[in-house]
Amino acid sequence: MDKKMIEESMELIDAHLKEKGISRRDAMKLFGMGGAAMMMGSGVVTEAKAASSSAKGKILIVGGGLAGIATAALLMRSLDEPDITVLEPNEKSASYQPGQTLVGAGVWNDADTEYTTADFMPEGVNWIKEKAVEFNPDQNSVKTSGGKEIKYDYMIVAAGLKLDFARLEGLGVTETITSRGDSSAARKVVGQNGIASIYFADGATDTWTQMQKFIADAKSGKKVQGIFTDPDTPIKCGGAPKKIMYLTDARLREAGARENAELTLYPNGDKLFGVPEYNAAMIEQFAQRDMKYNFKHNLIGVDPAAKIATFKKHWLEKGEWDEDLEEYEMIPTSEKVQVPYDFMHITPPMIAPEEIGSSPIGSGKGWVPVKQETLQHVKYPNIFALGDIAAVPMGKTGGSARKQYKVVVENLIAVMEGKNELPAKYDGYTVCPLITSIGTVMLAEFNWTGKPTPSFPLDPAQERWIWWLLKVYALKPMTQYGMLSGRA
Ligand SMILES: Cc1cc2nc3c(=O)[nH]c(=O)nc-3n(C[C@H](O)[C@H](O)[C@H](O)COP(=O)(O)OP(=O)(O)OC[C@H]3O[C@@H](n4cnc5c(N)ncnc54)[C@H](O)[C@@H]3O)c2cc1C
Repeated sequence: MDKKMIEESMELIDAHLKEKGISRRDAMKLFGMGGAAMMMGSGVVTEAKAASSSAKGKILIVGGGLAGIATAALLMRSLDEPDITVLEPNEKSASYQPGQTLVGAGVWNDADTEYTTADFMPEGVNWIKEKAVEFNPDQNSVKTSGGKEIKYDYMIVAAGLKLDFARLEGLGVTETITSRGDSSAARKVVGQNGIASIYFADGATDTWTQMQKFIADAKSGKKVQGIFTDPDTPIKCGGAPKKIMYLTDARLREAGARENAELTLYPNGDKLFGVPEYNAAMIEQFAQRDMKYNFKHNLIGVDPAAKIATFKKHWLEKGEWDEDLEEYEMIPTSEKVQVPYDFMHITPPMIAPEEIGSSPIGSGKGWVPVKQETLQHVKYPNIFALGDIAAVPMGKTGGSARKQYKVVVENLIAVMEGKNELPAKYDGYTVCPLITSIGTVMLAEFNWTGKPTPSFPLDPAQERWIWWLLKVYALKPMTQYGMLSGRA
């Protein structure tokens, strides 16, 4: 640990102690209990308080990933006589997806992120290893892939999302896949020949292989192009397309090969980050690293043999003057742009699982429509949804799910107890530990106010090594032992 690290560490500890009004002795105890415990003492992670309710009813949870298991665990702790069924077909569903970014850059291995579902499924839960394939919310029933009909009184939908590489013309992928599980439909092309994606586990392993080849080419003196895409759909972890770009930059520098590589981000949007303070910090970070960006480019096709990506570049053009509105009509305009690449990281379009998105509990856009503060379904008061599948702005991160599952449990228990008011409200909180190099992270926390909501009284737009320690050492155990057990 160098002097700068020690100073920064002390600055963080002092600021935190002052804000929380806790003694040094208590603080040392918290640090001694490990990074995860330290975070539980802060605002980043709050303890999940279990209620004690005698309310009864059959609860069905669809999806036993991060959000589904956390919800099941807290309900098991909160109800005197819990009757909970979880539908989850994947034996590895509890795996740690945020770690895939680190796998993609060779910091971790896949084994560091893969967990066995059975190790985290709460005791006492009836786990059915099948998918829900048909929803009949008017009859309170669901059909499973194995042909069972399950009746419920209350249902929680936590089925995550699917990666839709199939939408990209020319790529040759015909099926959607999940982040953990059988990826064979995509892996035959994504992870080969310079194409990479950290969004699925096998893809993250292959990203590191492809990145190393790209770096070796740059090191040999070849001038190479690396491009990074960001689609026109909502995505999980909006920071990840940029994190993998920062890490590619860091690995190229480490190899002494940065000057031979051009790195360009092609996002569909027109900002690097939705929150102005973080956006400004990132514009500066990109300039410092000579990382480029071309906004309003949506990836629509790939020619893997020729190594050419096709984007739809879009903009608004000034049309006729509108006398009534007293303004010019703005006409959406677009053109196709072809970009050659040596290495391309694809962030694929994302959709709700098809069997849910197009069912009576889905919506036109697929995501399960809920009231964004209470997370109760807009049509069915006995249904709640959370995690990546919920139609909630900015809600597709583990950090959001960590806040949402406590809201869902409190509100569901209120419904079960026959109360008219739902007491808990989700405020849109989310957190993005934006990795900016190997060793630094900008901890971007924010909510629906569109303003930074830092848990520590430190400039949130600063890249800090201590947040790297949080990302690499503390968040995983906190997820494993805190969130998946319904405690944090
Ligand atoms: C590369 C990457 C980096 C990330 N980085 C971060 C980060 O730094 N910070 C952060 O907070 N978050 C991050 N995330 C996002 C985070 O991992 C997700 O937001 C979180 O896992 C969502 O939890 P979930 O339970 O909604 O979905 P999941 O954990 O994906 O679980 C959904 C489950 O539903 C199951 N399912 C699907 N369909 C059905 C069905 N019909 N019937 C029954 N079960 C079904 C699936 O098998 C799956 O197990 C990252 C994700 C990725 C991929």
